[in-house]
Amino acid sequence: MAPMTLHPDSIAVHAGREDLASLGVHALPLDLSSTNPLPDLEVGGMSYEVLATGGHPFEGGSNVYARLWNPTVARFEEALARLEHAEEAVAFSSGMAAITAVLLGVSHESGKRHVVAVRPLYGGTDHLLASGLLGLETTFCAPDGVAAAVRDDTALVVLETPANPTLELVDLRAVVAAAGDVPVLVDNTFATPVLQQPLELGAALSLHSATKYLGGHGDVVGGVVACDARLAAALRRTRAITGAIMHPLAAYLLHRGLATLPVRVRAQQEGARVVAEWLTTRPEVSRVHFPGLPGCDPEGLVGTQQAGPGAMIAVELAGGYEAAAALTARVELFTHAVSLGSVDSLIQHPAALTHRPVVSDAKPSDALVRLSIGLEDPQDLIADLGQALTATARTNSAAMSNAG
Ligand SMILES: *Cc1c(COP(=O)(O)O)cnc(C)c1O
Repeated sequence: MAPMTLHPDSIAVHAGREDLASLGVHALPLDLSSTNPLPDLEVGGMSYEVLATGGHPFEGGSNVYARLWNPTVARFEEALARLEHAEEAVAFSSGMAAITAVLLGVSHESGKRHVVAVRPLYGGTDHLLASGLLGLETTFCAPDGVAAAVRDDTALVVLETPANPTLELVDLRAVVAAAGDVPVLVDNTFATPVLQQPLELGAALSLHSATKYLGGHGDVVGGVVACDARLAAALRRTRAITGAIMHPLAAYLLHRGLATLPVRVRAQQEGARVVAEWLTTRPEVSRVHFPGLPGCDPEGLVGTQQAGPGAMIAVELAGGYEAAAALTARVELFTHAVSLGSVDSLIQHPAALTHRPVVSDAKPSDALVRLSIGLEDPQDLIADLGQALTATARTNSAAMSNAG
């Protein structure tokens, strides 16, 4: 059967594994070699040249050195590219290493040093851009400010949808149109390729913190970018020079995790729907941010741009920072920890943690906590949030009557 005829769930299980039977194995091979034998000096040198400049290994050549090429990493990249409907993908040691490589690679290729970044973004991305560490100038704007912010020397437009941590959806096609000839990078970490394929909507690059849903079990750090072959070569060259390649064990775990990604994302999303609807009924909660709730998706992008609302929720607490801190301290089934997309549910306070480096006027509200819904029965998650919110409200009213 031709690979292109498969449905996405089947691609998630089979992509990057087509040759396993011919190798006589069933599980993914894990190649941990840091260096590789060279056939002879001539071919070894040619292999080095090709790989260090972003090319693929050639027949009879060598993989030379694990910073340049690793077959286990390449298998994962092939599988992820298929899910993202991309020509290629390039994997990195973390999501931030991937974002850094895109910024360095794209600005170097184009000779342009200006970036337009649509807020809100993940705090680490915001920090990297605002710091000026990479020698690039960044203009931050709202989604409708992209056309005005783009200049002749703009190398890249960066955006996230759904955005971290407010779950705002950005109309990707509108931003692509406003960007004109400037390539658009979409951070697809929250949606995953199960719900959204940004390249189909005109983005040039789709990026993941693979640490999150792609891994899904809280035991891998990685990043990956899906794009066309030309950009992929620029990213591999940057990766080889800066030394940001993904570790093969991480690639093995991520590739293994891809098989269950569609099932996990759909099940976590259904749980999130139940939890989000329940949260709207609670007096301690002043606002629930979840793209599947009425009013949270004014442009109707769920169902057109992304296939479902996803499994991330943000809530604003009526009791502000104190109530938010108390909630994170009182939950028992949720783990109070940063990160997201794991099979178990996590809760964290973005303003104090993931978005701590963001400038105050762009920082998320102090009353906001972010929930990553896992695979637990949503009724158990509701019971946990219920006991934590009730205890929090009691403390609040006690504090108020003391103060009064
Ligand atoms: C976590 C995260 C990143 C950074 O990825 P790391 O793997 O932690 O380096 C980037 N973007 C989003 C949306 C994230 O959630």
